[in-house]
Amino acid sequence: TIGMLCLDKDGDIAGACTTSGLSYKMKGRVGDSPIIGSGLFVDNQVGGAAATGLGEEILKTVGSFLIVELMRNGMHPQQACEEAINRIVNKNKNHKDFQAAYIAINKAGQTGSYCIHPGFAYMKYQHGKNERILSKAFLK
Ligand code: ASP
Repeated sequence: TIGMLCLDKDGDIAGACTTSGLSYKMKGRVGDSPIIGSGLFVDNQVGGAAATGLGEEILKTVGSFLIVELMRNGMHPQQACEEAINRIVNKNKNHKDFQAAYIAINKAGQTGSYCIHPGFAYMKYQHGKNERILSKAFLK
């Protein structure tokens, strides 16, 4: 999955995601990415969030919507991503068997990310500079 979140110079937020889905998926499978609220959610008054990982588990907590709602209530994007991953982990005894990750941005341009397994990274472009950020992870 490729998820993108943008905050422009006028303070407007946009988001997009695209995916090939999982390898060897069943014909007709729909993952989290095309489901607004699960794989992606943007509210221009608050911020945006996007997911990657095992869609079957990401769908069950509607995590991108959750992250935006937590940010609406004042939570920093980093804490909001951690809460969304914690919900997936708490629902799944087998959380070590799959990856899930979120990125998020708020209206102030603060960003966050969190994942289950270490290794998830994303690019941040700000003030003319590209930066590769290795996400914090639930598992060490
Ligand atoms: N989330 C995608 C899906 O389950 C897969 C991915 O992130 O690579 O369809």
